[in-house]
Amino acid sequence: MTEQIRLRTLIGQDPLYKAWFMKPATLTSLCSTPPWRLFVQLEADGRWAKVDLPSYAKAYAQVRLRLPDAYDMAIHCKPQEFKPPVVKIGERRLYWPCPDGHEWCGLCRRPTVFRFFSRHPAMKYPVSSEESRCSICGVRKTFLKRFKTTLQWPLKTASPVQK
Ligand SMILES: [Zn+2]
Repeated sequence: MTEQIRLRTLIGQDPLYKAWFMKPATLTSLCSTPPWRLFVQLEADGRWAKVDLPSYAKAYAQVRLRLPDAYDMAIHCKPQEFKPPVVKIGERRLYWPCPDGHEWCGLCRRPTVFRFFSRHPAMKYPVSSEESRCSICGVRKTFLKRFKTTLQWPLKTASPVQK
């Protein structure tokens, strides 16, 4: 079973993902409750705590505070799915690749490991164990868009595309 990459590792080892993650994310979908959900896992294989926050800046400030102590984290967006960062290689623009065994969760805005659960820690009620779900937020894989790329993680030479 693939061990899920930690946010700390992603930020520490992938300057392109770090730059994308640091940039305030723009919401285009409305949500009647605070749209950003910070997931924090205090220790390996531990439960994920969550708190909803009104802005990406507030969630990001929490990530900075907790990065030295938390085992893993995600800034999840409740109402909106995000594409992976776009990478420029020469003249080509390609989607940033996920590490092996991971897939892009457009709600958690990071690569996660998808698995089958009958009880998911982020969900109150039992769920269908026939559906592959994001191990952080529990979204069904079939619900998410897939982004193909020919690149392999980690990237050696690439520059981010400014939007
Ligand atoms: Zn997710």
